[in-house]
Amino acid sequence: MSGTIIDGIAIGKVIREEIKERVDLLKEKGCVPGLAVIVVGDDQASHTYVRNKQKSSVEVGMKSELIKLPATVTEAELLEHITKLNEDDSINGILVQLPLPNHIDENLVIRAIDPKKDVDGFHPENVGKMIIGQRAFLSCTPYGIIKLLERTNTEIKGKHAVIVGRSNIVGKPMGQLLLQRDATVTYCHSKTEDLASFTKQADILIVAIGRTKFITAEHVKEGAVVIDVGMNRDENGKLCGDVDFESVKGKAGAITPVPGGVGPMTITMLLKNTLHSAEQACIAKNGSEQ
Ligand code: NDP
Repeated sequence: MSGTIIDGIAIGKVIREEIKERVDLLKEKGCVPGLAVIVVGDDQASHTYVRNKQKSSVEVGMKSELIKLPATVTEAELLEHITKLNEDDSINGILVQLPLPNHIDENLVIRAIDPKKDVDGFHPENVGKMIIGQRAFLSCTPYGIIKLLERTNTEIKGKHAVIVGRSNIVGKPMGQLLLQRDATVTYCHSKTEDLASFTKQADILIVAIGRTKFITAEHVKEGAVVIDVGMNRDENGKLCGDVDFESVKGKAGAITPVPGGVGPMTITMLLKNTLHSAEQACIAKNGSEQ
């Protein structure tokens, strides 16, 4: 028996249609949501991600601004661009595509973005607010996974969620968001001893490690919901996840494919965060009758 395949493309499409409707409403009030994306250097993967983000923002009716900077740009020059975008009322969301060249301090760059325009949810102010349960921009990938779980009516409360990976952008915030929804959360990482003994306990297993097909049926409890965040290339150059889909799909109750699972949700949540920012800015501009 095979588990349900969680279709991130279809769920993302529905949410984007909802976003577009709200963008149209904002436009009627004279407010056009604007997303600015800064990309530094020539990394092909970064340029592909940025193109997809731009295309998606335009599709929901947002204004999109792309700033391409050479790999030789100085930290000061990059910060100057961010300051200008912070002050630009037509821009509601600012995203700096990571990674940045080694001579630029990523943390400094993230902190330079106005937290009200930090639609990636990486600024320490947003991360801190998220942890204490205040309204904040949420990191797009974990936020997208929460939406996948909600829209597939996956019970979170009281369930044991095991997160493999503890990065600042995926693993750590993922656990916090599940904790807020009353899951019991276990974090695993590269120093975890006997990984399978933890993952086998998971009702919800979220894997974000960046290792091709690392999680197999042996790591998974019968009927578990398995969310694969990984985006890797296999030996044939084909996109694949951290979970060995073929081996796990027969055992899982539900599973996300790669591609077509978490990826489309990450971009969708970027648009949702930009929409939220634009709605707040529009209220501030037009008054509370909005
Ligand atoms: P990082 O490299 O920042 O973090 C990887 C994490 O995995 C670390 O916490 C590391 O542990 C842990 N880890 C590595 N190897 C093992 C192992 N053998 N056993 C247990 N834990 C291990 O990665 P990201 O979180 O940024 O990304 C993870 C994956 O998700 C990548 O494939 C990335 O491309 C993908 N991704 C996909 C997105 C999407 O939209 N679909 C968005 C973001 C990322 P330790 O801390 O001990 O080093």
